[in-house]
Amino acid sequence: MKIPFGKPILDDAERNAVMDVLAGPILVHGPKATEFEDAFAGYTGAPNAVSVSSCTAGLHLVYFAKGIGAGDEVIVPAMTHTATAHAVELAGATPVFVDAESQTGNIDINAIEAAITKRTKAISIVHFLGMPVDMERVNGIAAKHGLLVVEDAALAVGTMLDGVHAGLLGDVGVFSFYPVKHMTTAEGGMIITRDKVFADDLRLKKAFGVDRTHGERKIPGMYDVVALGFNYRMSEIHAAIGIEQIKKLPDFLAKREANYQALERALSGVDGVTLLKSSFGRFKSSYYCLSAILDAEMAHLRPDIMDAMKTMGVGTSVYYPQPVPRMTYYREKYGYDAKAYPNAERISDQSIALPVGPHLSEDDMKVVAAALKNAIHEVTK
Ligand SMILES: *Cc1c(COP(=O)(O)O)cnc(C)c1O
Repeated sequence: MKIPFGKPILDDAERNAVMDVLAGPILVHGPKATEFEDAFAGYTGAPNAVSVSSCTAGLHLVYFAKGIGAGDEVIVPAMTHTATAHAVELAGATPVFVDAESQTGNIDINAIEAAITKRTKAISIVHFLGMPVDMERVNGIAAKHGLLVVEDAALAVGTMLDGVHAGLLGDVGVFSFYPVKHMTTAEGGMIITRDKVFADDLRLKKAFGVDRTHGERKIPGMYDVVALGFNYRMSEIHAAIGIEQIKKLPDFLAKREANYQALERALSGVDGVTLLKSSFGRFKSSYYCLSAILDAEMAHLRPDIMDAMKTMGVGTSVYYPQPVPRMTYYREKYGYDAKAYPNAERISDQSIALPVGPHLSEDDMKVVAAALKNAIHEVTK
């Protein structure tokens, strides 16, 4: 593949950082995780950052720590990664899905209130492909009903609304450092929040509910357990990679933006394709990828178009392959009413995700655009 959809950018900086950790005695509970938390807090402007083993773990930890569980409901966007909903399920609560709006793929804020019941405890949102949700409106609804606002910010490193970084727009935000995201630690995640008491509770509950950290123990091995908790820690090896990646982050994000804009220009006026809306005014995307939505009449040709592009050396993907409530697990558990999620269905069934990552150049964007145009031409002739 000449132009892969995603590719982590790692070099001697990450390799040496990992080797340094391996040369020392501390693999967990060490200075690297703290240093990475501080760097991420500095980058986003968060007063508190808590490293975790993945975004999914972080989301689960948030609901668990807030005591959201059996009998409770959480509003979840239908158009997201399954982890957004799984975290609610894992906590024992019930996800109540809300359709996307058609322009950005973000949750349809107009439809949130109708989904709120006496059991609702939280609203979760996802900044879809990095495009910020209008959080002022979401927070307004949440305040009216006394609900927690959870941002699944897995694709939102670099996402800003009114100059405020994603994750600080609601009550708590969780990021992912999975390999193809904006930056990586191989596996990993970070929770940020303005609430220090909550952050301390998350720290306690991500590590068995043990009452004191290693550094605080007078007698080694002596501690008490004051709460139920997981082992959702990030290791020193993962954190060491993150410290190096965050130094490169401004460059990664600038390249994504330049690539996105070059690709958007190159695709303007292509027949049969609509692009999801990206940054405008107060809304600044992190440009995870460019989502091109095929007209309904062409939707059945999507596999052929993606295949033709692959033959031309251009990798593509689908974000996300199904509305989450249509996934077998959720469909079998809760039933599925297709008419309830027309916009999520359109994005799942008709869109092609095009690469804009920092592993690519603006010249590559010309190749991607030409490949899409030629592929459409080929399969419709
Ligand atoms: C990738 C992704 C996740 C899962 O992140 P992990 O770190 O792999 O757990 C969750 N939510 C969204 C929106 C994602 O894109």
